[in-house]
Amino acid sequence: MEKASLFSSNPEIKKVIKKYTAVLECSRCNKIYTEISNVGCWQCKYHPGVLDHDKKEWTCCGEKAHLVSNYNSFARYGIWKDKFSPVPMYSIGCTPCDHLSYDSPLPYKDVNVENIAQLIPFMHPELTERNYSLKDRKPFLLRKKPFIP
Ligand SMILES: [Zn+2]
Ligand SMILES: [Zn+2]
Repeated sequence: MEKASLFSSNPEIKKVIKKYTAVLECSRCNKIYTEISNVGCWQCKYHPGVLDHDKKEWTCCGEKAHLVSNYNSFARYGIWKDKFSPVPMYSIGCTPCDHLSYDSPLPYKDVNVENIAQLIPFMHPELTERNYSLKDRKPFLLRKKPFIP
């Protein structure tokens, strides 16, 4: 394989680099990130269950809506995503996953490592420290920790 460079002149590699270095904002936690530092790192959280609107709680972890009286003190510290939204409010999640942006040029799906081989030398943290698993004997970086109820 050709020696990897983040400034490759190969148009195919260029496309991949562009996708993975686009600056994005996470729609869950508002953190600024790039996909190269995101895929398989699980630095965000989500609720894998569904919101039970009658009980006002998540089916995955049983988290209940936070009370209005907690709202101002938490909002001041930026813990909750929507500081000015009306109650009920919930945390962004209970289960680790990758940051998610609807602006990302990359689909929010597990990533076949073979398709991004040229990016591996530039990954921090390293590939081996990320969450991946083998599908059909191919390594895939996982976007979310699977939910086991
Ligand atoms: Zn949950
Ligand atoms: Zn996030």
